[in-house]
Amino acid sequence: MLFGKFQGSVREGVPLAPYTWLQLGGPAKYFAEPSDVEQLQQIVRLATQEGIPIRVLGGGSNILVRDKGFDGLVVHLTAPCFEKITIQGNMAECGGAARLAHLITASVGAGLGGLEHLVGIPGTVGGALRGNSSTDEGDIGSLMAQATLLTRKAEIVKVSAKDVTFSHRRSSLDELMILDATFELQPGDVRQLTKREQTFWIVKRSKQPNYPTRSALAFVDLDGVSAGELLQRSGVNGMIEGNSQLNSTYPNYLTANTGATADQIISVLERAKKIVLDKTGFSLQPHLVVW
Ligand SMILES: Cc1cc2nc3c(=O)[nH]c(=O)nc-3n(C[C@H](O)[C@H](O)[C@H](O)COP(=O)(O)OP(=O)(O)OC[C@H]3O[C@@H](n4cnc5c(N)ncnc54)[C@H](O)[C@@H]3O)c2cc1C
Repeated sequence: MLFGKFQGSVREGVPLAPYTWLQLGGPAKYFAEPSDVEQLQQIVRLATQEGIPIRVLGGGSNILVRDKGFDGLVVHLTAPCFEKITIQGNMAECGGAARLAHLITASVGAGLGGLEHLVGIPGTVGGALRGNSSTDEGDIGSLMAQATLLTRKAEIVKVSAKDVTFSHRRSSLDELMILDATFELQPGDVRQLTKREQTFWIVKRSKQPNYPTRSALAFVDLDGVSAGELLQRSGVNGMIEGNSQLNSTYPNYLTANTGATADQIISVLERAKKIVLDKTGFSLQPHLVVW
């Protein structure tokens, strides 16, 4: 076996559905959960040498795995060293695999503000930075001071805010992996920050399905135009394809009901995109990353 020397850390034919919010899709040919950075580098170096495509799995809240699965190596960072959160002064340093929710709780608890409006966004800090997670209050990228990345050649590089560009749900952090990141936050009163966080949480919950598992964001908002509004205007909210559907109550969320397939999700996205383009002239892009 190619990854034989990493027994226990690399498995073959691992179903990916349980790792994604939509709980859909086939297996990964290889699935790695390295124990530390050194082992991660060895695994990535070997995969690159062998020409094996690599993908990074965070919390799986923005990934759609195709029904046939992924014919390559999926890396899932689960060891404690990838999830560490350290607060020093007004800086929060955090592993790429740490839950965004944990980073928010730790920083608010330490009297540091800035991230609390992102409460309720599922997934990891790495996933949030890669896709520049945001709310109407701002994005995560604007708070990043520096980050450590792993390249496809398994080299470790440091970048600072000035090296990276962030725009709506996009970042230029396109090296293979975000290993850790440091955020510059503003000192504040713990009680007030906690209240703000709670208020944002209530607002967030009112805007998304009550049972968000098996749901995901469908499209990216366009410059100043909400994707949900375009879907509603075009009359496609509630659109069904097999067991997949665009949510009729919460526009721009799609849901995988029991028996749904990735093909159905792709098909509902394509149909909705075409109708919106025909009716409004706007070309929507999927929010989900398709593997
Ligand atoms: C109910 C619900 C509500 C949501 N609300 C919002 C919202 O309000 N605002 C918003 O912006 N998004 C929202 N999202 C989308 C999603 O939660 C975000 O995109 C989230 O940041 C994805 O993080 P993740 O760890 O789950 O990434 P994944 O879904 O695992 O991966 C997404 C992408 O990031 C990459 N990635 C993951 N980890 C790393 C890493 N360490 N290094 C490099 N690349 C990595 C993956 O390879 C993939 O390309 C919502 C999703 C759901 C299901």
